[in-house]
Amino acid sequence: MNSEVRLERLTQPEVEACFQSTHLAVLAPGSVEQHGPHLPLGTDAFAAIAIADAVARRLNTVLVPLPLVGVSPYHQSWAGSLTFQPQTFIAVVEDICESLARHKVDKILFVNWHEGNSTALRLAGDSVQRKFNQKVVIAESHLITNKLFGERAQLTHAGNMETAAVLMYDPSLVDVSKATNPSSQPDADAMHAVFRQKDVFPILRDFHQVAPTGWYGNPGEATIELADEIRTKVSQYIAERAGIEFGR
Ligand SMILES: [Zn+2]
Repeated sequence: MNSEVRLERLTQPEVEACFQSTHLAVLAPGSVEQHGPHLPLGTDAFAAIAIADAVARRLNTVLVPLPLVGVSPYHQSWAGSLTFQPQTFIAVVEDICESLARHKVDKILFVNWHEGNSTALRLAGDSVQRKFNQKVVIAESHLITNKLFGERAQLTHAGNMETAAVLMYDPSLVDVSKATNPSSQPDADAMHAVFRQKDVFPILRDFHQVAPTGWYGNPGEATIELADEIRTKVSQYIAERAGIEFGR
C-alpha cells in the first residue's frame, strides 16, 4: 500500500510510474447539497473520497481529483446546495478521462456515493469507453454500504450511514446535537421508495417531496467504530469486485 494516493499530492514522476504499471485510475464523483443541520454540505463528496482513497490504496493506484460538485437539482431549494447540469458533469468527466487516456490509463473505476449522479455517471462512462477506449467500472458505494451493513447503515438522507460516512472523512465536521428536526422516517422511506421504483416511476423534482425538513434517519447511531468498519469492508468489497469486472 502506498502512503499517499491522491494524484494532486504526488509528484509527476510518481504518478507516471503508477500509470505505467497499473493503467488504472480511481475517481470519486462528488456532490454538494444540504444534509440537515448536523452534517456538512459536502457529505456525499467526502464519503466518496474517503472510500475511494481506501480503494486506491488496495489497488496500488492513485485517486484522481474531480470537482466536489455533482448533479443535485432536487436540493436547490435549500441555500448552499450546488449542482452541475448533467451535461456539464458528463463533459467534466469526459475531459478528465481524456487526460488520463493520454497517460496510458485504460481502466477507470468510479467510486460514487450520490444517487443523483448515477444516471449522468452511466452516460459519462459509456461515452468515455467509446471515445477513449477505456474500460469503465462504477461502484455505487452507498448501495454497497447499505447492502453490507443493513439497518446499521440505512439508505436515508443524513441518517446513520451518512453520519458514519462523514466521521470516516473528518469527525470534526459532525455535530449530532444539532440534528433536532428530522422528517418522519416512515413517510420519507415510503416516498423515497416511490422515486426508486425500477419499472414505472416519477422523477424527483424537489427533496421536500421526500423529507420536508431536508433529512431523516438516525444520525445518533453512527460511531467512529462503524465508520472504520465501513471504510475497511466497503473498500475491500469494491477492490475485489473491480478486479473481477476489469478482468472480464
Ligand atoms: Zn447524501
